[in-house]
Parts: sequence; structure tokens; C-alpha cells
Amino acid sequence: MNSEEIKKAYMTNDELGEAECNRINSLVSEFKRYLEVMVMIPGAEKAEKDNPEAFREKYRLSRDYREDGKMFLDPRLSSQFKSMSEEEYLSAVTETAFRYSQFLNNKFFYRDLFREKLCVPDNEVIKKWRERQIHRCLGLAGSASLGNIHVPLAIELSDGCSVGCKFCGIGAGKLKSVFRYTDENAKLFNDVLETMHDIIGDAAGSAMLYYCGEPLDNPDYKKFMSDFYKKSGLCPQITTAVALRDVMRTHDLLADLSQKPVTIYRFSVLSVDQAEKILDEFTPEELLRVELLPQYPEAKTFSGFVDAGKARDAKYHVDSGVYQSICCLSGFVINMSNMTVRMITSVPASDEYPTGEKIYEKKEFKSAEDLKTIVESMIDRYMVNELPKSRKLKFYDYVKVKDDSGDDCMLIAPGYHLKIKDIPGGAGKPAAEMLAKGDYTAKEIVSEITDSEKIDPVEVYRTLYYYWMEGVIDEFH
Ligand code: SF4
Repeated sequence: MNSEEIKKAYMTNDELGEAECNRINSLVSEFKRYLEVMVMIPGAEKAEKDNPEAFREKYRLSRDYREDGKMFLDPRLSSQFKSMSEEEYLSAVTETAFRYSQFLNNKFFYRDLFREKLCVPDNEVIKKWRERQIHRCLGLAGSASLGNIHVPLAIELSDGCSVGCKFCGIGAGKLKSVFRYTDENAKLFNDVLETMHDIIGDAAGSAMLYYCGEPLDNPDYKKFMSDFYKKSGLCPQITTAVALRDVMRTHDLLADLSQKPVTIYRFSVLSVDQAEKILDEFTPEELLRVELLPQYPEAKTFSGFVDAGKARDAKYHVDSGVYQSICCLSGFVINMSNMTVRMITSVPASDEYPTGEKIYEKKEFKSAEDLKTIVESMIDRYMVNELPKSRKLKFYDYVKVKDDSGDDCMLIAPGYHLKIKDIPGGAGKPAAEMLAKGDYTAKEIVSEITDSEKIDPVEVYRTLYYYWMEGVIDEFH
């Protein structure tokens, strides 16, 4: 960047002014479009090389972005940029690439804000239980699990899904019914929002208005969204696979969402043909805040379907790491259409949990008051934060105690390393050894370690509780 651009890099939006912010937004929108074409459309690189003008006209790009794109498309260059000092980086990067990196960093910032603040329940019991589930997922998948924000609530406005993707990670069934915005339903919906806000706190406002289904299957989605926005001040995030089904409706929705505070929304793109149509139908500015998710093997960024739900049955090739689940919830899913509520958390898909969700219980409700009683009872019975008393305690199978030399005893899981000696009180190692065996209750562990190591029982309990809250003790079996 030149000195003027570097100076502006340190300015706030207010200092930059509206006109400059709009210029930057257009720049980022077009460049985002350029990168999307490069990774989603097979042969894009050659098409650009053969006839750059025609390429730019087709994808509505006002200029050549090849130089700016290198930092993102050439892995060798992107690692060079990462190793630079701030000063070196700012002089080496182009303004477009810099502004786009800022845009990406902002997205990560908002993802973390949701995970660490906006999704955190006021209710202490739910808050602690959710924290433990986050730790458990971190232990399993490390930083790969950071994309899961563990939303405490989702409200489904239809039962089933009309799209029928063969790879559907939550195994949605056929569309059975839709919860229309009648006077009676609107009242029930608003009462349910009120009830869940009473139970969860403001984090209920981080909810999505879909989960196992397609949000736009409901023709009244926008009306419900508007009620939700009035109550929470947040616009629910949305992922749709039918952006092209009724394009005027999608244009209208995007216009509406762009006026609201930052919201994540995504289009699932099911084929190259759909990608071309979406790029043709929507302008780069309209798609600025839309993540395009290519779900087809011809896309360069496609790394296989998550091995859960229908993808698991279809035995698609999968190489997306250890954590096979698309469930981003630790809390409640309320289906307004069939009047049920289920409590779930994300787990890797397996024969036991084929859809990558642990479903604690699913129950029908008759009214908002009834829902309150049911949800409170689920919290009491399943969100248990105390150490189990009568059950034998055991680490998850993937958690191992590595004891090469006494002092460096480590607790290791795929995404987790803990130096056991860092746990205060001295009971870390003997407790870990007993938890690895899985043959003892908490009381037995405390009694054994108190006798053999002469450690205060309170200290041993504290250590066990520490492991419990770290999410390394198996709570499902
Ligand atoms: S992936 Fe989404 S759109 Fe596709 S079938 Fe499943 S719920 Fe429906």
C-alpha cells in the first residue's frame, strides 16, 4: 500500500467518512466475488487468462484483481505474508487484499463475539453446562471446533425439508408441515420467545429460526424474523439452499438483512450451474455479507461432506477432520410446526449418534406455559453440573494420559494438551490415572488418593471437578 493507504488503514469508520467507507465496501464486494469465482467455477483461471475483458464483464468486475488475489490463492505467498511484521505487511499488501483481510477478521471477530458473549446464557446452570460442552468439543477437535458457536436455542418454523440434499448432515426428512403466520400462531411464537428469554436470558436472541430444515420453506419467514428482531434487536442468521427458488424474495430478504446489524447468512450452492446462476442473479454488493458454500466436488474449496446424517448413509468421501457433525447447538430446538422441543448438543456422528447430535429428550408441548415446565424439567434432569455421585467416572476414550517422565505427565486428546502438574493441589496425576481406568466412582477416587497420597479430600474433589468442567470425563455413558 502507499503511504496514504497505510495512513487510512489506522482510521476508524467515522474518521474515514461515509463516502470512503462505501468505496471500501464496493472494493471488498468485488474482490470477494473475484475469489469466489476462482474457487467455485472450474476453469475460471484459464477463462480470465484467455479473455480478461469478457471474464470481468461476465462476473461484473470493474477491474483486474489478479495481483490482489495472489495472497489468497497462492499458499506459498499467503504463508510469506503471515510471517511478516506489521510494517512489512502493510507495505507489501495491496489495498484491496488488506481491506478484504480486514473484512475476514471482522467476520471471525463476530463469530467469537457470538460464541463468547451473545450466546452465553444468563441462567447459570445452562451457562456451565454449555461451557463444558464447548470444552468437550475443543478437546475433540481443537481449533477446528471454534466455528461451532454452541447456540443455546433454535426455533424451527416447519417440519422437515423440501430440498432433500443427499448429503444432509442432520438427515432432514421430507417436508411435512409449515407453521404459517396466523394471528394465533404469531401469538404463540411471541409467547415462546418470551418464555425462552425468561429461561435463557438475552442469549435467546442469538437463536436461529431454523435448524433441521430450510428456513425459506416457510413463506412467512420474514414476518417471524421481524417479530424476532423487534424482541431481541438481533436478526437471526440464515443458511438457505434455495436462494434461486424465488429470486425476488431472496433479493428482498437480502435488502432487509443489509439494513440490520451484522448477521451471518449463507447460501448453500449445490452445483456449478447454481453457482453461475447465483453470480449472475445477485450483484457483488448484495452478496457482500453472504457466504457462498459450494457443496459440489468441482469447487476448489470443497473438502468433502461432513460424515453425518444422510451423507453417512450414502458413504460419501469425507476428509474434513475428526469432528463429523454439523450441529452447532448446545441447548434447545423448538419446532413450532409439530409443537415439540428437544434438548441437544453436538457430538461426532457415530452409529450411536448418526446425525452428530446427542438428543437428550424430545417432548411435545401444548402452550408456552407447558413449554416452560418441560424445558425447566430438562434443565434439572440433564444439565447436571455436579460430579456424578454413584457412577464410575472415566475419561472419554480419545483422552489419554501420557506419562513419559513423571513431571511431564500430560493429558492428551486430539485437540487438547494439558500439563497435569499445572493443576494445583497435587492430585492431578493420581486422579488422571484412576479416571483413565474408569473403574471408580468419585468417592472411591477421593478415598484412595487421600489414603495413598495424603492429599486433602477437598483438593481431590476439586481436581475431579476441574476435569469434569474441562469436558474430558465421559458424561454420556
Ligand atoms: S442440508 Fe439443509 S436444505 Fe439440504 S436437506 Fe438438509 S436441511 Fe434441507
